[in-house]
Amino acid sequence: MITVKTIEEARMQVKSWKNEGYSVALVPTMGSLHEGHASLIKRAAKENEKVVVSIFVNPIQFGPNEDLSSYPRTLDKDTVLCESAGAHLIFAPEVSEMYYTDNVTGVNVQGLTTGLCGAKRPCHFGGVCTVVSKLFNIIPADKAYFGEKDAQQLAIIKRMVRDLNFDIKIVGCPIVREKDGLAKSSRNVYLSAKERQAALCLNKSLTKGKEILSSSEKSTKLLKNVIRNVIQNEVLAKVDYIEVVDSISLKAVDVVNKPVLVAIAVFIGKTRLIDNFIWEV
Ligand code: AMP
Repeated sequence: MITVKTIEEARMQVKSWKNEGYSVALVPTMGSLHEGHASLIKRAAKENEKVVVSIFVNPIQFGPNEDLSSYPRTLDKDTVLCESAGAHLIFAPEVSEMYYTDNVTGVNVQGLTTGLCGAKRPCHFGGVCTVVSKLFNIIPADKAYFGEKDAQQLAIIKRMVRDLNFDIKIVGCPIVREKDGLAKSSRNVYLSAKERQAALCLNKSLTKGKEILSSSEKSTKLLKNVIRNVIQNEVLAKVDYIEVVDSISLKAVDVVNKPVLVAIAVFIGKTRLIDNFIWEV
């Protein structure tokens, strides 16, 4: 496995693989890799001959008061994980390699980006779509792998690829969890021992939500209340949002009579965590 830092090296390597007839996968990440990322890389390695992992903490997807400077950066450890999961190339550019100082171009997806995580993070998905578009142009992969953990991001990227005719297939991969149910996240390292325990309320609340839906309940109002009650029982937790939306359009629904995404964001202390499930009817 090799690591490159420039666009030219990454592009040349991938083009030469393509010329040799290899299928190529891309797994975009911000590093601080864990088993969730490893599951994407392993799946990509199973379904493709060459796997590229990009590791880039993308500054333009962070808001002014967010954790850009404290976001964990662990390239040496990440390299070991990538290699053991079956990656062939790490593309780990500096910010100056990815963005011209006078860059004026970006990619914005309308509508799907304004709710859920986009409501309080107005620039976030523009930053994500811009960097992912750049990565798709730099790494001409056949398939790109994204986690269902970031369900809104996955829906937005799928729509962007459709609308802009990117020649790449987007593959969504299931959420990987800790043994006790907490969704793996690079931000879990911010949690103190007490907060780590408190963070279990996210998955607990969603499990309760699934129970309610299994009992044939169709009202999203009731569903949200049940989820909210579980989270509010945890003193260290503060709800950011609880939403039930159409899983493709991400528009709010009142009655669960088609596939929905049930998504939550919760502050545990200062750390904002997200989790979700898709309910098929
Ligand atoms: P990030 O480094 O947080 O930007 O995540 C890179 C990719 O890994 C995204 O597609 C995420 O959805 C995915 N990912 C992060 N955590 C998990 C997880 N626990 N399970 C599955 N995929 C994940």
